[in-house]
Amino acid sequence: MKDHSDILKELELKTTPKRLAILDILRNASIYLSPDEVWTTMKERFRAIGLPTVYRNLEELAAGGVISKVIHPDRKLYYFFCGNREHHHHFVCTSCRKVDDLNFCAFGEIEKEVSRTLNATVSSHIMQVFGICSDCSADKGGRQ
Ligand SMILES: [Zn+2]
Ligand SMILES: [Zn+2]
Ligand SMILES: [Zn+2]
Repeated sequence: MKDHSDILKELELKTTPKRLAILDILRNASIYLSPDEVWTTMKERFRAIGLPTVYRNLEELAAGGVISKVIHPDRKLYYFFCGNREHHHHFVCTSCRKVDDLNFCAFGEIEKEVSRTLNATVSSHIMQVFGICSDCSADKGGRQ
């Protein structure tokens, strides 16, 4: 696994202790976190840190592509870390908040169809799939 400062360097983002700490927190959590939750852990390391600073750093890291935002159905803001730099999508469990990589993309055909019907040039797409993961449905005695 790559060092956090290597990740920042690669993406040409300045390495700061706060950014490194946020990466650390999200990577260790391995689930999506709200800015408030990141802030709670940040306060253990940076006593005087305010929530706006956490928000700003999260936004900068997301804009740089280091961390990702969850487009959650509850409309609240969450972030997670994924080290996979290839184009892929995510399955988000709304019960345990785990995020799984979907290492396939079926959007090639849809993009072609969009550019054909709208005569538009498609540059990118975003998709996240939400649901309950197999671990969580097993816990409830449901399907496996
Ligand atoms: Zn789950
Ligand atoms: Zn991923
Ligand atoms: Zn895709």
